[in-house]
Amino acid sequence: MKGPIGWFHRAKGPTATLKALGIGVPAEQNISVPIVAFLVEHPSVGLLLIDTGFHGSIADGPGAERSRNLGPVGRLMARDVSMRPEQTVAAQLRARGIDPADVAVIVMTHLHFDHASGLADFPGATVLVSEPEWQSARGRGGVLRGYSTTQLDPRLSYRTLDFSTAPARSSNASKSRGAFAQTLDVFGDGSVTLAFTPGHSRGHLSVILRLSSREALIAGDAIYTMATLRDGERPWRSEDAEAFEQSLSALQAYDREQPDALIVPGHDMEHWRGLEEHYS
Ligand SMILES: [Zn+2]
Repeated sequence: MKGPIGWFHRAKGPTATLKALGIGVPAEQNISVPIVAFLVEHPSVGLLLIDTGFHGSIADGPGAERSRNLGPVGRLMARDVSMRPEQTVAAQLRARGIDPADVAVIVMTHLHFDHASGLADFPGATVLVSEPEWQSARGRGGVLRGYSTTQLDPRLSYRTLDFSTAPARSSNASKSRGAFAQTLDVFGDGSVTLAFTPGHSRGHLSVILRLSSREALIAGDAIYTMATLRDGERPWRSEDAEAFEQSLSALQAYDREQPDALIVPGHDMEHWRGLEEHYS
């Protein structure tokens, strides 16, 4: 997807908003960003997806289904997407011999229109999403916060996660882990840990994967780019700026404490191009 650089890295001075919205910025100066999703193959639990990318109707170009999927705001923001039909997550799975129906669990970092668009291709899946994210997407004004509720296909099952650390009533209560104050161990084996990293959106979460020799942190939009993690850049806006800074501090601490970890930001084309297709 293309967009103004000022959206991803806030410009200095009074023109920051204009630059973020691309007003007065020539289209050829817009930058390309990837829309990312990840397949996790867990040795005993099976297939898990992290985010879902854009639905096939977005590749098809202007049309009723595309408009319906993206909603009134997403439609405007995604006006400059270049995508081929074989780039949907479902098509990419099929190309690797995986039946999309075999994906039992989808973890959503958050529910913005460029992450939840492909949910409809996994009607049998159970979706894990934080409770505040679910409320924010479905609540009043959700469309202005970047959500399209038509993407939340009712055929899927949605399980909302409570990261609050208040009196632990059950064994799967949220715990602190290293830099992160609130985490949930999805399978109870330390393999997939969800870290609550709100700010970009009200209930954003990041995913820590234990690979065979190191960890991978799927940071989502808690950092659009590595420059936000390491070079002081900030996005033009966050749903909650204070929470964003707290989450960023935790991610930065993780980066220091786990120098070998693979960290993947949400929308960084240069970093994305440097990744391998497969990590084990
Ligand atoms: Zn987002």
